[in-house]
Amino acid sequence: MSKMQSINARFGIGSRSRSLFVSLLAGMMLFLASCGNAPPAEPPTYTPDVVQRLESYAGDIQGMRDRMGELEQLIQERDWVYVDNFIHGPLGTLRQDMTLFNRNLLPQDQPPGRELAREVFRHLEAISLAAENSDYATATKNYREALTDLDAFLDLLPKSSGS
Ligand code: ZN
Repeated sequence: MSKMQSINARFGIGSRSRSLFVSLLAGMMLFLASCGNAPPAEPPTYTPDVVQRLESYAGDIQGMRDRMGELEQLIQERDWVYVDNFIHGPLGTLRQDMTLFNRNLLPQDQPPGRELAREVFRHLEAISLAAENSDYATATKNYREALTDLDAFLDLLPKSSGS
């Protein structure tokens, strides 16, 4: 008897989760169908709290941007060990902050954000490699390009409305 009850219970749960799945699926298809027929929606805009979150990440990123001059100085001095240390130390959280920033952008702004973040890191990795090879020309070229891409990235911050 207790065995039968437990089988029933299991079947009960099983069919409940099956029917939950079916209704989720139905809901999803309804949603997709309604999206297909919906008139073109207003373009999405930034809400004040998303702007605030973006400004907070941008503040951290700007803080690292402000220290890029130190990296330039180390390259000028051909202080290769500290060049590499600087990229993995003070700039160590840059990638994470840029990723978090990107995730809060509107969908249409995310591809350029991802592309610029990739570029910045391509240049920083090139500087690291140049440091290993004591390659001054490659280091300075990638330093300039990293700055350009980082500034373009910071330009993605939506202009806050007056506040
Ligand atoms: Zn670039």
